[in-house]
Amino acid sequence: MKKIVILVCLLLFTSFVNVFAEGLDVYSQYLDNIPSIGSHGLLPSENNNPGKHKIYDVNFDGVIDVSDIVSVINIIAKANSSDEGDVNCDGKIDISDIVAIINCISMSYNDSILNENHFAFLGKNLGSCKELVGDTYLVLCFVSTPEHPWTESKKKEVNQVSRSSIGYMKTEAQKYGVELNMKFGGLDFEVPYEFTKDRKWYNYILEHYYHTSTIVDVYNSYKKSLNSVNTPMIFLFNSYDRSFTYSCKKNFPNWNEEFCVIFCDTKMHDNYLTHEVMHLFGAIDLYDYNNEGIKSLALKYFPESDMLRVSHYIDELTAYLIGWKKELTTKSIVFLNQIDGLR
Ligand SMILES: [Zn+2]
Repeated sequence: MKKIVILVCLLLFTSFVNVFAEGLDVYSQYLDNIPSIGSHGLLPSENNNPGKHKIYDVNFDGVIDVSDIVSVINIIAKANSSDEGDVNCDGKIDISDIVAIINCISMSYNDSILNENHFAFLGKNLGSCKELVGDTYLVLCFVSTPEHPWTESKKKEVNQVSRSSIGYMKTEAQKYGVELNMKFGGLDFEVPYEFTKDRKWYNYILEHYYHTSTIVDVYNSYKKSLNSVNTPMIFLFNSYDRSFTYSCKKNFPNWNEEFCVIFCDTKMHDNYLTHEVMHLFGAIDLYDYNNEGIKSLALKYFPESDMLRVSHYIDELTAYLIGWKKELTTKSIVFLNQIDGLR
């Protein structure tokens, strides 16, 4: 008798798993048809009329199948369709959350365990800039080179953008319940070299202005004198190139380069500074010029992220990496598993 009960349970379980697994394919096809998935929770509109949405019926036939799940998602999407901003930080659920939950359920237990050597964690909680919380003083370093000196008016412009960027970081931190007391100040440097990848300019600044060869000394002294937990150093050049950040990484324990470089000879957006500061505290790019796969997955899960595009939104994975969230969300785990090995 006991054996029969177990057998029946097993059969029931197997058939449920099959129905669910079959359903997932249909489901993912359906998802592919949503052009703006996750962005504002909107459904595909007919004839580009934003007011008209497709509606699916829920069949109450005693079996839960993928069409029922689709219906529930549609109901949620419709309810959220008036949302302009993001719905991840404010306790609401959007389509990308449901996608993540379903993907997580469909993964085997082993797949839902994250690889602790995942590239996304290589810069988390390391170096002088560990977590972007508490008293933080952005040290803006205006580097004048022979061909690209700074002017007072250009510096003023950068200061305005920085102020706006700080306001946006504080607002985002608040959404995650984090107190970020951020200020900034500027310093002028004159170096006899142009910007080059061999970092002659950098070594010159350390030696000539700080009389040291290691930036850790500079960070330690600023933390003391500015009475701040974090004193991220941002080197600003009045020339044109691609901005970048060197952050401390697990695989380079003796790394002596931990700073952002921003090129300002273009219309600056407050997002640039925020994006680079996030990197300094361990965030990863949600795009990769060498791998379209990462970007397409990020577009599905974190379409509005500052680490993906010019925006004013810090996604929940970035929030975890920079110390604003203590736990990874289901969505982040699913995303990380899907991009593991892609970079
Ligand atoms: Zn980046």
